[in-house]
Amino acid sequence: MTDVIIIGSGPAGLTAAIYARRAGFSVLVIEKAPMSGGQIVNTGEVDNYPGLQGINGFEMGMKFREHAEYAGAVFAEGMVQEIRSGDDGKEVVTERETYQTRAVIIAAGAAYAGLGVPGEEALKGHGVSYCATCDGAFFRGRVTAVVGGGDVAVEDAIVLSRFCTRVYVIHRRDSLRAAKALQQKLFSLPGVEMVWDSVVERIDGKGQVESIHVRNQKNGEVQDIPVDGVFIAVGLKPLSSAFSSLVSTDQNGYIEAGEDCRTSCPGIFAAGDIRTKKLRQVVTAVADGANAVAGVEEYLMSGE
Ligand code: NAP
Repeated sequence: MTDVIIIGSGPAGLTAAIYARRAGFSVLVIEKAPMSGGQIVNTGEVDNYPGLQGINGFEMGMKFREHAEYAGAVFAEGMVQEIRSGDDGKEVVTERETYQTRAVIIAAGAAYAGLGVPGEEALKGHGVSYCATCDGAFFRGRVTAVVGGGDVAVEDAIVLSRFCTRVYVIHRRDSLRAAKALQQKLFSLPGVEMVWDSVVERIDGKGQVESIHVRNQKNGEVQDIPVDGVFIAVGLKPLSSAFSSLVSTDQNGYIEAGEDCRTSCPGIFAAGDIRTKKLRQVVTAVADGANAVAGVEEYLMSGE
């Protein structure tokens, strides 16, 4: 019987692991792939984490992990299928094993959402990508488009501008949601062209992306823009389906929990991007990791 099982090894899960070990608990972190590290490992540069200005996301993820390992957290690989809650604790069921624990912190994060337009699925890996840091270098000397107006879309466009002759940013409104500092950087880049008020209705190509069919939502005009790659950055979807029968989720699938990370099921806590919250950043994920462990301590001491 482990004191705490943490599901996910992004910034929230790894912080929870460090805090739980320091609180004297035995800790098992279950991650879907070895060194998975969460979304942060696919981020080129993190420029808003205090004290680590401009750090590479992969390096940051590895530093967090090393710290959790140093603190004594144990790691296991597995995809969690279900959590069962009983009188004697919880069972966490993966495709390989069933683990017994006294409390669970769900820090499984979120994954990229898709557009759901014709061509997207068929051309995935053939010009359609969700990660410029991972795939941008394949498009050296080519023309690409980024879809979205948030931090990820703008960061992707900045990364792609280093490789590509032209980068279109297709956004459905006339202003970006991304942080102002990122916007300033984007607008200063010569090879970037904004396509405002527009949505991608179709991705075309025979075996490889060749163009995108774009509609201007204000005047109804349509155009086919020739591109070699499309990077889709239209937000996140929480990876909560394995838990939604046990804990309450909102209409978008995020696990309902406040700052204390308590879910609707006693002894189960939600931390990081998977939790209902306003601001999904590394710093807020890290804060959740600490708060969730404070909740676990209270829960285990009260014998709820
Ligand atoms: P996001 O902030 O939710 O932005 C998603 C963007 O996609 C929005 O501009 C949205 O348009 C657009 N969009 C959504 N659905 C669409 C659709 N079906 N068709 C076309 N456009 C669509 O998501 P994100 O950029 O992936 O970022 C996720 C979270 O991670 C955010 O909280 C972000 O702040 C955080 N993040 C932080 C950092 C950092 O701290 N350095 C870096 C990366 C990400 P509207 O604007 O019209 O809604």
